Amino acid sequence: MVTAPFYAMNAMEERDPVLIIGSGPTGLMAALILTELGVPVEVYDKSPKPASTWRAPGFNARTMELFARYGLAERFSAVSEPRNELTVYAEGKQIAQLSLYGARTEFPHLFLCPQTETERVLRERLAELGVYIQWGWEFTGYDMVTPSAGTGRGKRATAAIEAVAARFQCAEMELHHRPRTIVRRGAYLLGCDGAHSRVRKAMGAAFGGRRIDTKIAAGDVEVDADWPNAGRFSLHPDGMVGALRVKGSHCYRVFAAWGENDPAELTNETFAATLRHRLAPEPLANLNVISTSLFTLQERRASYYSIDGRIFLCGDAAHIHSPAGGQGLNLGVQDAENIAWKLALVYHGRANAKLLDTYAIERVPVANDVIELSHNLFSKTMASTSSMRAFLLKHTAPFLASAPRKLQRKRFEQAAQLRIRYSADDNVAVDEDGCRWENAWWSSLLTDDLCVPGARAVDGVVTDMAAAVDSQPLRVRQWLSDHCGNYAVMVFVDCGVAAVEPDLVDKSRAPQLSRAHSSTSLSSVAASSISSSYRGARLARTTIDELMMLLAVLRGYVECIPLAIILHGSKQPDTQESVAQQIFEHFPAAYDSSFDDAPSPLIRVFADQPQGMLFDGLALSGIYACAHSGKHVAYLVRPDGYIACRGPLAGAGDQVQTHLDSYIYYGK
Ligand SMILES: Cc1cc2nc3c(=O)[nH]c(=O)nc-3n(C[C@H](O)[C@H](O)[C@H](O)COP(=O)(O)OP(=O)(O)OC[C@H]3O[C@@H](n4cnc5c(N)ncnc54)[C@H](O)[C@@H]3O)c2cc1C
Repeated sequence: MVTAPFYAMNAMEERDPVLIIGSGPTGLMAALILTELGVPVEVYDKSPKPASTWRAPGFNARTMELFARYGLAERFSAVSEPRNELTVYAEGKQIAQLSLYGARTEFPHLFLCPQTETERVLRERLAELGVYIQWGWEFTGYDMVTPSAGTGRGKRATAAIEAVAARFQCAEMELHHRPRTIVRRGAYLLGCDGAHSRVRKAMGAAFGGRRIDTKIAAGDVEVDADWPNAGRFSLHPDGMVGALRVKGSHCYRVFAAWGENDPAELTNETFAATLRHRLAPEPLANLNVISTSLFTLQERRASYYSIDGRIFLCGDAAHIHSPAGGQGLNLGVQDAENIAWKLALVYHGRANAKLLDTYAIERVPVANDVIELSHNLFSKTMASTSSMRAFLLKHTAPFLASAPRKLQRKRFEQAAQLRIRYSADDNVAVDEDGCRWENAWWSSLLTDDLCVPGARAVDGVVTDMAAAVDSQPLRVRQWLSDHCGNYAVMVFVDCGVAAVEPDLVDKSRAPQLSRAHSSTSLSSVAASSISSSYRGARLARTTIDELMMLLAVLRGYVECIPLAIILHGSKQPDTQESVAQQIFEHFPAAYDSSFDDAPSPLIRVFADQPQGMLFDGLALSGIYACAHSGKHVAYLVRPDGYIACRGPLAGAGDQVQTHLDSYIYYGK
């Protein structure tokens, strides 16, 4: 499970909680992350109980990565059905299979999982952490609390605001024992209260955009047991029909564009008739519509996401769009993650409050992109009633399905929100901003700009050089998860440049440092006696000095920024082992956690796994150090797994310091 961040460990004193309005996926995710990061939360929902209505039938790869970071991958694997392809039909025939393979992630799937299940799993985890939803309380408004004047409307001197006082009314008339209204004080307030957000209205933010004429009809439908394919789209000139199977059943969640030419009233019967018409000539002998709902669609975004640095809008409260492309839930939980790690740092006094301004700077463009993507998908495919477009779609779908793998991958990665790039003005330093980083032109062709600042740090498999020889490889994300809520530094050290000193090679002189003996704690061995006489392949002294300088900078931040040194790049089998020993000599804490008070070793030495080929024949170092063979490179990774900045190891300390000092205090 996730370890609370080092900085939160002593923060047990009574403080105002973060108030979370709404317990949809966005509010639940925000509550979960904040709780894991040691921030007290209170979650309020106007509903008397969890929603059971039909909404998102699944979530995407990026959301699964996020769940995995907070230790929930196994739980969500158990309740979801991973899909690797979507099948396209026209006139009853399969015409194409769109592959979801090849996305550069540990989870290259679309996960079919009803939203009710997603919310249930999140609620259960929260309950384990002692957080329960306050059902039946409707948020009605707020006041800012200032120290001098107390609570009052219109107090807008931001610097003086110390809390938010939120008003709730009891939404459950029959609960007579409850007061009619309550006021709760919170350090911050997150408006995760959906499309009709009262928080947004109370903030005075506009919700500009437009209403879409065509509606979406959705229903739970039982079909013949042998109806093929769990994820399918059927093209028809009257509008597309999508169907996603519910795990372990013959039941599908079916949705169809519902325009002015469709029956005025949506009933189980009219829905069944429409499906038979659009799916013909498929026989569908046992089609049985269990329930239906009609959704009006809008495309809107809040004019601003936050007010006075205390209240923030997330999820559907901040943006809505058509369900085409399956984006909404995913967008919401990632909003939640983006604000939660920043709030946690600010709440614990580790970051400057201006870090919170980057929430809107980063997330507004992402919402704009998603609104555009879903608009195009909906108007040009799902809802199109143009015969010409239906003809074109029918003939381009097979072409799209057989497009080069790279193109297909790009499309899937985009839809799975894996290609988000937080841009230059955000909380990421870019190369041009004095980073002294020269990227070979061909590296972006090879790595597809996977590792540029602002992109998410891709995951890979490594070996822990301090673990027993036969220990299992681990994923970098597991190491990052151990430090959730913290920045982390990864240094890729190219062992190909290590010089062997042949006369001095004598492995027998360093038996206690062999990985096979790792169960013997080095704490019992005086640091000075660590085999300084051991000589094999050695890195240049300047490299060790550069690592030391970087570590000195990291230690200036209350020792809570973990460092992973990832060895790669030598064809000699013993070289990585030998270089690891050299690093252990200089950084004993990399070998034994008892050198530190932190929850897990702050320095770890890993070796890239040649068999951990990620994609396009590149292992982890091939992605991160691709253009820099012979150089050692450093990456600063943000708490949400996005790359903050990168550069050569020489000077990495300054670069990391410059970046962190612009937002992060860390009690220096
Ligand atoms: C038919 C359909 C299909 C969809 N398909 C997909 C899909 O395939 N993929 C995808 O990613 N998304 C999909 N979505 C979108 C997805 O369901 C939403 O984006 C998601 O539910 C947003 O989550 P949220 O937590 O932001 O808001 P919501 O889920 O709306 O939750 C808001 C919560 O706030 C509570 N609340 C509201 N007002 C107040 C108040 N004043 N005080 C206290 N509590 C309040 C509500 O009771 C509710 O529990 C679909 C939606 C629909 C309708």
